[in-house]
Formats: sequence, structure tokens, C-alpha cells
Amino acid sequence: MPSPLSSFQVDAIKSELLTLLEHLREDVGHELQDQQGERVHEAMKEAHDRGDEASAELEATINITNMSRHLGEIQECQDALQRLASGSYGLCLVCGEEIELNRLKANPVSARCLSCQSKEEQDHYEGHSASM
Ligand SMILES: [Zn+2]
Repeated sequence: MPSPLSSFQVDAIKSELLTLLEHLREDVGHELQDQQGERVHEAMKEAHDRGDEASAELEATINITNMSRHLGEIQECQDALQRLASGSYGLCLVCGEEIELNRLKANPVSARCLSCQSKEEQDHYEGHSASM
């Protein structure tokens, strides 16, 4: 099955994904440093002096949340690059239909078409998985 995208579009998306991946890796690198290094440690110490450990803990939690979100985004980027390489990029993982081009432009890691995505979000929101 040929990719619905022209080779020009594929190249543009690929370079966009690679740039995004680079930025995400940088972010995670900084976050790891924060996690292990001085910043969190200092924040904890200061907070301890103020008797305010809860907010320092909260800060550390936010940091971890950001980091795991970024790690998830890195995974999505890598998956998208893999689909790009295998020629399945731009096709919905769920129904196999072409993903709207505007959607890919807005979010190049999209792996589902709009209707499958909103269906999944709805299922998620309802708190149960749909039966096939
Ligand atoms: Zn779909």
C-alpha cells in the first residue's frame, strides 16, 4: 500500500520529527539533571528549612510528570519515524484509513484518524474499553 503522502511531504515530516526528537531528548536530559542534581536537592533543603517539604515534593513530582510525558512523546516520535520508514505513516493504526493531512501537519506523531482518536478519548473518558 503506497503512502498517501508525497515524498516531499515525507521528507518535511521526517525532518520535523527529528528536530522534535532532538528537543525532547534535550528536555529530558535537563530534567534528569534536575532530578539528580543540585536544583531539586537545593529546593528540598530550602523547603526543609522552611518546614515546607510538601511543596518541594510537589515540585519533584511535577518534574517527574513532565519527564514521563516527554519520554512518551519521544516514543511517539520514534514510532512515527518507524512508520515513515516502513511506508505506513499517515494511515490510521486502528481503521487503516488515511489520516487527515491537516491533522498530521498539526501533530506529526498522530497515529489515528480523527474519528478513531475521538472514539478512543470517549472510551477513555467513559472508563471502559469498547468491545469489538
Ligand atoms: Zn481511524
